[in-house]
Amino acid sequence: MIITPKVRGFICVTAHPEGCKKNVLDQIIYSRSREAISDSPKKVLIIGSSTGYGLASRVVASFACKADTVGVYFERPALDGKPATPGFYNARALDHFAREEGRISESINGDAFSDEIKEKTIELIGERLGKIDCIIYSLAAPRRRDPVSGEIYKSVLKPIGNGFKGKTVNMVTAEVLDIAIDPATEEEIEGTCKVMGGEDWERWVDQLLAANVLAPGVRTYAYSYIGPEVTWPIYAQGTIGRAKDHLERSAKQIQSKLQQLGGTAGISINKAVVTQASSAIPVVPLYNSLLFKIMKNKHIHEGCIEQMYRLFSSHFDGNRDAQGRIRLDDLEMREDVQREVKETWDKISTENLRELTDFDGYRRDFLNLFGFNASGIDYSKDVEID
Ligand code: NAD
Repeated sequence: MIITPKVRGFICVTAHPEGCKKNVLDQIIYSRSREAISDSPKKVLIIGSSTGYGLASRVVASFACKADTVGVYFERPALDGKPATPGFYNARALDHFAREEGRISESINGDAFSDEIKEKTIELIGERLGKIDCIIYSLAAPRRRDPVSGEIYKSVLKPIGNGFKGKTVNMVTAEVLDIAIDPATEEEIEGTCKVMGGEDWERWVDQLLAANVLAPGVRTYAYSYIGPEVTWPIYAQGTIGRAKDHLERSAKQIQSKLQQLGGTAGISINKAVVTQASSAIPVVPLYNSLLFKIMKNKHIHEGCIEQMYRLFSSHFDGNRDAQGRIRLDDLEMREDVQREVKETWDKISTENLRELTDFDGYRRDFLNLFGFNASGIDYSKDVEID
């Protein structure tokens, strides 16, 4: 079938298998073009491995560290003549290319929050990898069923305390719009912490520890974001920020549990990039459009793969802040970059969007997440969606 992009709000409901494969290959080519990372993890579990930061982590682990990997993700296969979600095609491509190079590359498609998928993953690790020396936790999810109570919690992107008025951009019409968001209720704050906090990460580590599949010196990292003032009401000081505070507290708990193995747990604060998760956050698509223009002008623009190469090649020990968090957002947060963000933000309107920001570049990257705009792909050709 011939597949074209169909954007609905902040999501594209179609995905192109060949384009997704090409995107994965481009990330692999980038990883191969950089220096191989020695003294790096060799057996890696990536939870949330099919798109965004998790996919890039898996590419770097497989192709720069030459590690064997198990990836866990939740993606829909092709169904009733509709293409699969992009992560499904990405994961399949990653397994294909990694196996071609002789790596062990296993994937589990299912709900990482469930004990069933944890058990399945642990069994697979035991059979194929033995013990793992690195766990990357890179989930971004809208809901979670608590495996103990069975209750379903939902994650929301809302401010806390006061309502928020700001602006964002409509991806389809390229209109800059005013938005107003009511503050979250206590229940919504709790729900977001249950989904995007560290409870599930800790449950994974508990079960991996109990199954004796963690190697001495094992490292585990989860990802977070802080960002500049224009995004604080909706991010750092909003429901998602509260969940990330929980994630940081979980890192400390996990660290103490891993002491018996001489292991470490930590948080990496990554920069803002275009992913399915970040596209859903109000304000962020407009902020990213502006940020990309500024960072590209200064030749310091980075995407997921550049960030993850930096993380792994620094042996998870680069630039750290007073709280001990790894700061991969150093270039985004540079004083000269954020000064320009501040000076320009209030001036952006529908009329000057393309002059003041890199909206077209942002939109290209957004469509690229779904396998469109990939170089060398003939989109007028029929493709198999299965
Ligand atoms: P993403 O949407 O690209 O990826 C989310 C991943 O989670 C996918 O692999 C998806 O399949 C998986 N997933 C979702 N629900 C699942 C479930 N129930 N079971 C198994 N897998 C599931 O997201 P992303 O932007 O790469 O975010 C990953 C992490 O990075 C998040 O913690 C996010 O807060 C953090 N982060 C993102 C940015 C950014 O700008 N995108 C910046 C800093 C930090």
